[in-house]
Amino acid sequence: MRAWRAVGGTPPFIQRGRGAELVDVDGKAYVDFVCSWGAMVAGHAHPRVLRAVGEALKRGTHFGAPTAQEVELAREVTRRFPAIEKLRLVSSGTEAAMSAVRLARGFTGRDKVLKFAGCYHGHSDGLLVRAGSGSLTFGVPDSPGVPTAVAGLTLVAEFNDWPRVQALLCEQGSEIAAVLVEPVPANMGVVPPVGDFLGRLRELTHRHGVVLIFDEVITGFRLGSGGAQQRFDISPDLTCLGKILGGGLPLAAFGGRADIMSHLAPDGGVYQAGTLSGNPLAVAAGLATVGLLSERAYGELEALGAQAQEGLERALRDSGIPGCVQRAGSMLTLFLGRPSVRNFAEARACDGALFARYFHGMVERQIYLPPSQFEAMFLSLAHTSDHVDQLVRAAREVLLAIAKAGQ
Ligand code: PLP
Repeated sequence: MRAWRAVGGTPPFIQRGRGAELVDVDGKAYVDFVCSWGAMVAGHAHPRVLRAVGEALKRGTHFGAPTAQEVELAREVTRRFPAIEKLRLVSSGTEAAMSAVRLARGFTGRDKVLKFAGCYHGHSDGLLVRAGSGSLTFGVPDSPGVPTAVAGLTLVAEFNDWPRVQALLCEQGSEIAAVLVEPVPANMGVVPPVGDFLGRLRELTHRHGVVLIFDEVITGFRLGSGGAQQRFDISPDLTCLGKILGGGLPLAAFGGRADIMSHLAPDGGVYQAGTLSGNPLAVAAGLATVGLLSERAYGELEALGAQAQEGLERALRDSGIPGCVQRAGSMLTLFLGRPSVRNFAEARACDGALFARYFHGMVERQIYLPPSQFEAMFLSLAHTSDHVDQLVRAAREVLLAIAKAGQ
């Protein structure tokens, strides 16, 4: 993604960030709507986060031993996510998803995993199968280097395709260890679940003894204090968290039902470990960031998201270019070329070339967007209504110019 392969051109090298702004090495400033792929919910260089990391730094960078702050962060997570009874800190979202799947396999004694096309769960072998995000735009759904035998254990369905999911679970449920899902996928652009898709998934996985894993690496702490599971009132068996959890430093977690987590070493036999797990600087940044996320903060993020959606929809309508804006809270995607997107197949039917023109027009106007149709834009607590106005004004200019030049 960082290489801009989906849109062409050369990405700027970033020198510094503050609040909602980034400045590149040539001194050009941008309003940042990438927010480090969702991680920087407090904005860049938030004083409270910097202070917390600075204080932790004075005590040493890493000990490879338990610290009180880890427990404090774990308490905060379990308070906000009641379905997480126990958790394990790790260093990346990839590690969290990979470990959650191994745990589900160890717990159930089954090998297969069901995932959804266009959902990205990091780059572990078994999950790099019809994944979204960077793998999607590289056109390498099954990356070279992933053994066929490993990929063969991963079943894939389209998101929101209930009949297919139902058939797979009814036919192969007794062999499936886990269903892994981004409850609101953001790695094929933002695609909200239709109807009671997630509720039905919960019910049927429960019936077949399949572990339901919500990958909330993006949506956790983003769609509300308790993530997507709170928003949709669903208790998954396991949850993966990352990005915001580390407040811009490398930290992630997986956790859930205590009876499942007790299968994890050292209590149980499923091995998982990491030298830098629970790194004190990352934990300090995470605690400070999560501490900023009050109900009021989520109200502000929601309002900014709604303003951005309305403005972009208006710009799209006025330009006459077909497309849609899909949003969940403070994450949203402008899809070009389709009236709606409910799954990966529809996301791929969008107009990537048109998106590239739009993207470059926006960057020229100092609006830093995710460089692909298959990503989400993110808002942070540092964004203001003025920043969103800037975004909408630029989008309007760019879309009208494209319409005038002929699509
Ligand atoms: N899961 C989801 C939903 C993600 O969006 C990502 C990364 O974008 C990951 C897992 C992998 O996380 P990381 O890049 O920290 O390994």
